[in-house]
Amino acid sequence: MSQLALLGGTPVIANEPPAYSSMGVAEQDAVRDVVASGCLSGFFGSPGPEFLGGPKVREFEAAWAARFGAKHAVSVNSNTSGLFAAMGAIGLSPGDEVIVPPWTMSATAMSPLIYGGIPVFADIEDETFCIDPEKVKAQITAKTRAIVAVNLFGHPARLRELRDLADARGIYLIEDNAQAPLGSEEGTATGKIGHIGIASLNYHKHIHTGEGGVCVTDDDDLAGRMQMIRNHGENLVEHGGIADPVNMVGFNFRMTELSAAVGLVQLADVERHVSIRERLAETLSDGTRDLEGWTVPKVRAGCRHNYYIWLVKFDQGAIGVSRELFSKALAAEGFPHYLAYVPPLYRLPLFQRRVAIGREGWPFTLTDRRYDNGLCPVTERLHENEAICFEPCAYDVDDTLAEKMVAAIRKVHAHRRDLNALAETG
Ligand SMILES: *Cc1c(COP(=O)(O)O)cnc(C)c1O
Repeated sequence: MSQLALLGGTPVIANEPPAYSSMGVAEQDAVRDVVASGCLSGFFGSPGPEFLGGPKVREFEAAWAARFGAKHAVSVNSNTSGLFAAMGAIGLSPGDEVIVPPWTMSATAMSPLIYGGIPVFADIEDETFCIDPEKVKAQITAKTRAIVAVNLFGHPARLRELRDLADARGIYLIEDNAQAPLGSEEGTATGKIGHIGIASLNYHKHIHTGEGGVCVTDDDDLAGRMQMIRNHGENLVEHGGIADPVNMVGFNFRMTELSAAVGLVQLADVERHVSIRERLAETLSDGTRDLEGWTVPKVRAGCRHNYYIWLVKFDQGAIGVSRELFSKALAAEGFPHYLAYVPPLYRLPLFQRRVAIGREGWPFTLTDRRYDNGLCPVTERLHENEAICFEPCAYDVDDTLAEKMVAAIRKVHAHRRDLNALAETG
């Protein structure tokens, strides 16, 4: 039992944990009803009530707005689409700068580029991994049009502080809330503190509709513009009460009736789906918090953390074994995890070669911003040396299995010196 599985011992976790499924009988019934109705999408890209979607889409949006106390909920077919719609709605123009974190799903940083905007990276906080307001301040210029805060891994960014900063500078705060459906800061829901907050209903998120997203806002004009961008808005400028046609080039970001019907059922049960994942993460934290060189996630006072990812900071100096070797041993014990999250996004070829759209280097020709290594040292250190990630969202883990996960980590930690023999022999 005490021999590490990597060295020939018995793994603590014998089988790969089963995948979590949030789908139940009610979702199946909801889909069947929509199919039976024959109307799988109620949208028309022309003036009239269908411009705003079919009955399920409208019911879903009303339910979402009510659940989060938002004036408007605009459904879309992904969070990525929602980010594009938000960038268009705020009137982003070529050469405008948008401050984004470098550690997030790539779509966050891509969204300004679609309108010729320039992503400007601001480093993250070492404790919550969300964008650091001090670093944001240092990047604000006369060209800054918006800040995108990502509530990364399920923990709220310093949203109130960022909103106050945005308001003081007359710019927008957009929340990418893909990973924190029920996050909160001082009692206010994540997604609600920014001018626009965008949820994801992608398969990998806490609740889902296969693909999908929802933008919430209390601003009538921003909601109207996002509805236009979602659905061929160029046809509606004269009819839609939108005086200013800037960025009213429409896409098709429309949600289907099938997705909306599933979304209604998922939304009704969101508290359960989120709290199951939170409980698993807390079990892992409580069971391993005392380990030397192993820093479990911190939760800032007054915040709710939804644990899309449970990220541990690994201190190689204190542990005396490389993160890579420790990870191999953890994997051999059957604990599913990965190292790092995504590389700092400015390392993507698109930033390194400074070409996003067309062949002329556009829109980077509009800026002298650089994307060199060393730009965001906290992100780089976490990525290169420290992060070990587990996805509570991905697995269906009962209390027994959760205790085994704790045992697997503790076993590798307790026997880590045995790994030095491997390190020496290579
Ligand atoms: C998943 C995710 C997205 C993209 O969501 P989609 O609905 O798949 O487009 C964007 N940002 C973050 C932080 C995410 O986790």
